Amino acid sequence: MTEEKTKKIVKTIKVDVDKCNGCRACEVICSAFHAQPKYSSNNPARSRIRVIRDPLRDVYVPVYAGEYTPAECAGRDKYVIDGKEYDECAFCRASCPSRDIFKEPDSGLPLKCDMCESDPPLEEPMCVQWCITDALTYEEREEEVEEEEEQEEMEIGLEALADKFGLDKIMDTVARMSMSKNG
Ligand code: SF4
Ligand code: SF4
Repeated sequence: MTEEKTKKIVKTIKVDVDKCNGCRACEVICSAFHAQPKYSSNNPARSRIRVIRDPLRDVYVPVYAGEYTPAECAGRDKYVIDGKEYDECAFCRASCPSRDIFKEPDSGLPLKCDMCESDPPLEEPMCVQWCITDALTYEEREEEVEEEEEQEEMEIGLEALADKFGLDKIMDTVARMSMSKNG
């Protein structure tokens, strides 16, 4: 087992909930940027960021799509903000079997924020660029990581996806994505 240290850029988006006005521009641009071909449609249901909105209380909380998980978690979180209790799972980032959020509406495949990875790379992710209130700010820092560890994490993630959706469906999606990126 190799344990070489390697440098990794950690990308962070800082969310300042107090600045968010619930405009949902981040949802629109995220879905448009990831449409195939790019910008051919915008449907917030395909966005990798979702804004939990409660306009009467002026509460808006942007939540980013995180990891896919094949199983529901055994526990639940409850949030109370300004006296209002929010649904269990409302602020969770996972794409999981118990809800439709952070899933491709047509295929059901999980969506995850990829920080707008593209070639050539963007200076800042699209949602950050489109957020006129500066509720979202982008930061980068360098960290040392074990090379082996990173590889293992990727393999576990791919294995879980293949178990749930079947290898063929995953391969089709990857082929479609790569055609759209190269074309
Ligand atoms: S960083 Fe990019 S992929 Fe992630 S939510 Fe923002 S626009 Fe979507
Ligand atoms: S674009 Fe900014 S202000 Fe608008 S909903 Fe998204 S995070 Fe909030």
